[in-house]
Amino acid sequence: MPKTKVFVTRLIPEKGLTLIRDFCDADIWQDELPPPREMIFERVRGVDGLVSLLTDKIDGEVMDAAPHLKVISNMAVGVDNVDLAAATTRKLPVGNTPGVLTDATADMAFALMTSAARRIVEGEKYVRNGKWKTWHPQLLLGADFVGATLGIIGFGRIGKAVAKRAKGFDLRVIYYDPSVPSAFDAVPVDLDALLRESDFVSLHVPLTEETRHLVNAETLNKMKPNAILVNTSRGPVVDLQDLYDALKSKRIFAAALDVTEPEPLPADSPLLELDNCLIVPHLGSASKYTRDMMSLLAAQNLIAGLKGERLPHCVNPQVYD
Ligand code: NAD
Repeated sequence: MPKTKVFVTRLIPEKGLTLIRDFCDADIWQDELPPPREMIFERVRGVDGLVSLLTDKIDGEVMDAAPHLKVISNMAVGVDNVDLAAATTRKLPVGNTPGVLTDATADMAFALMTSAARRIVEGEKYVRNGKWKTWHPQLLLGADFVGATLGIIGFGRIGKAVAKRAKGFDLRVIYYDPSVPSAFDAVPVDLDALLRESDFVSLHVPLTEETRHLVNAETLNKMKPNAILVNTSRGPVVDLQDLYDALKSKRIFAAALDVTEPEPLPADSPLLELDNCLIVPHLGSASKYTRDMMSLLAAQNLIAGLKGERLPHCVNPQVYD
């Protein structure tokens, strides 16, 4: 019997690919760069399943270009690249990969927080550029952790994992998340109080219409002058022009970004001229084990969908109603 056809939009880890190849006739996009949109249209035409990444815009047009499509499996926990309403209307289950990337992303948030606070990247550049002449009592002074307040916006899986790590640094943790009324080791506050009181602000919300540009001139103006902003959520949660202005004028102390709008950040972005802005290329879940597990979950979601079974991790369960 011929295997079902699927399109996988990039070379994902072998852990998931092995499973996919066993079950499907897989067309795997080999390039380093994502498939251009017209190429997605072409490659999904005859497929039953699609494995997509956060770099692929999967909207109603793509779904309609694939009349046999039974399942969309997104290898990410965030699904802002997929038009969920369009998928639900077409009764297409959409899978994601929650949980397995929680710790790696929380680790990255903490790595960025400590790096920005202690000016690690600035210090490293200083050494490389041959500027290190002596120990100086005022050289590259940073921020302290003990007794400082960490404000977490979005207290879900990753937000809670960041709070857990904060305990080891003796930080006081507050959070803003209307759907989490209380927590064992962190204090719920409203958004204004969080911005006013936090020395560190870490973002862990999904990208939605409500969270788009949640960090903007108005919210930045409410932050402390010593505040450090960390974003490992999605780029568009922060208005980068407003962030640039706040960092340039030292309205806040520093920012550390794993995600930007757009991605990649253009090489001539003025943010790259600022010493108090640290940027890495969307590496939140980029650890070997995590990516293996993400590929496995993506494969499991795909295969369940192809078999007509309920996806282990489905973000639009309404399709089963
Ligand atoms: P989650 O669903 O467990 O947690 C998100 C939390 O945000 C929820 O508790 C929700 O109630 C809250 N929330 C939603 N809208 C809000 C708002 N307007 N204000 C305050 N809180 C709000 O998700 P998660 O697994 O913790 O992942 C969070 C996000 O992190 C993902 O959606 C994804 O975009 C991002 N992420 C990024 C990387 C990376 O590589 N940088 C890796 C994993 C996840």
